[in-house]
Amino acid sequence: MDTLSSAQRNPVEVPDDTVLQVTNLRKTYGKKQALDNVTFSLQAGTCFGFLGPNGAGKSTTMKILTGIVKADSGEARLFGQDMTTDTERIARYIGYVPQEITLYEKLSAYDNLVFFGEAYGVRGSELKRRIADVLDKTGLTDRAQDEVQTFSGGMKRRINIAAALLHRPKLLILDEPTVGIDPQSRNHIFEMIRELNGQGVTIIYSTHYMEEVEALCDQVAIMDQGAVKAIGPLGELLERYGRKAIYIEAPELTAAPSDPDVSRASREGSGWILETDRVGEVMQRLLAAAAERHWDVKQLEVVRPSLEQVFLTVTGTALRD
Ligand code: ADP
Repeated sequence: MDTLSSAQRNPVEVPDDTVLQVTNLRKTYGKKQALDNVTFSLQAGTCFGFLGPNGAGKSTTMKILTGIVKADSGEARLFGQDMTTDTERIARYIGYVPQEITLYEKLSAYDNLVFFGEAYGVRGSELKRRIADVLDKTGLTDRAQDEVQTFSGGMKRRINIAAALLHRPKLLILDEPTVGIDPQSRNHIFEMIRELNGQGVTIIYSTHYMEEVEALCDQVAIMDQGAVKAIGPLGELLERYGRKAIYIEAPELTAAPSDPDVSRASREGSGWILETDRVGEVMQRLLAAAAERHWDVKQLEVVRPSLEQVFLTVTGTALRD
């Protein structure tokens, strides 16, 4: 009779594709509660948008994930390993780009990358190859030998991201990487993130710019006052919390057209926003009424739900810059 190997008897559990599981993180600074039971999980290959106003707790969460800040309580597991106790072992899986630029101003971009690469244990010809690769990704190959102090804020940020990629992390955490930078660098950063995500790197992208989340991310967590207020695929959040509405503009409409399925009508510009769960039916009746009453319709369109409305619905406040 064949004997079973220990692996056959005790097959290793095939892990699901959860990369990160964060449970009930709490953190206070003095009397200030920065995080209040933050819980979320991330699937492999996600580009996860962490959206919230300044002070929401995004940085604190990220700093806990990278071991810079210690949580008061709660748990974070990366690939099933406890991030608070196995911090050093887990560090090699994570690339972290903090809000503050952390580069040596008087060193060249290249030498900065050598420094960071070696800090992660990458050396020799392999490091050279990787530096060439990240410089190419950031579009700064031709500036490699220039001192970082001659770079624009956006270029410094790109090098900072490059530095976080040298050890080929599986999870890349970026803390508001586009604040205060030029559009060209922003585009480069977006392209880089898309490319990395396409290669299977899981991304956590924190921002207070909604359009960035809409452009980049497939999953979103809305954070406010230290808590995750809503989380899910972008499309689902838009569907669940976004306003469904029709915009109509015609000079004859001095009052909002009445319709039994319109829950709320409000003036916007020269037209009316008609909120409804039955967009199709209301649209048909508006078209019929317009034809019958000879309205000179200037505009008639379905209003796409926006993340801005989702944010407003979920938090009760607008997300302003
Ligand atoms: P975000 O990244 O969303 O802007 P933060 O995580 O930086 O939010 O901050 C969350 C809250 O914790 C804020 O009220 C902030 O003022 C406070 N906070 C963050 N870091 C510290 C600190 N080192 N000392 C005291 N308070 C802090």
